[in-house]
Amino acid sequence: MNEGIDRKGLKARFWETTPLELLNQQEWEALCDGCGKCCLNKLEDEDSGEIALTRVACRLLDDNSCQCAHYENRHQFIPECIVLRPDNLDSHAYWMPQTCAYRLLWEGKPLPQWHPLLTGDPNSPHAAGVTVRGWTVSEFDTPEEDWEDHIIEEPI
Ligand code: SF4
Ligand code: SF4
Repeated sequence: MNEGIDRKGLKARFWETTPLELLNQQEWEALCDGCGKCCLNKLEDEDSGEIALTRVACRLLDDNSCQCAHYENRHQFIPECIVLRPDNLDSHAYWMPQTCAYRLLWEGKPLPQWHPLLTGDPNSPHAAGVTVRGWTVSEFDTPEEDWEDHIIEEPI
């Protein structure tokens, strides 16, 4: 996830009137609610293809701020980290967290009431308890064979 999201000067409720593929860069970035849940490791059921989120976080995730510790140069450390864009959302929405704004809009759903674009407060997702603050475990300390023990129920 991004850090230091700039939501100043945006048109009110721009996401309701502008298709995702026509958003400018600031609008696109502003959709991120800062929950940090896309930075959790996931497990995929080989048979059903279902995705389960775990509380095992990417090594770069700061679980207090819920931000990437090295967002700008993260690919030096985590080359596989996805850069989500309007033109690749179709391929990724299925594994995004259920409350993720990109996934919700892609599914044609509204943003939740606690979203910073609606509250004007970047801390509102923390206050609503929908971020990863304080409850992740480190992937350094958690071998992959144990991730199944850390599956979480969505939506959170
Ligand atoms: S899950 Fe979505 S809303 Fe949450 S941090 Fe990731 S991109 Fe942003
Ligand atoms: S490198 Fe890790 S913490 Fe940073 S954005 Fe990617 S998944 Fe999140």
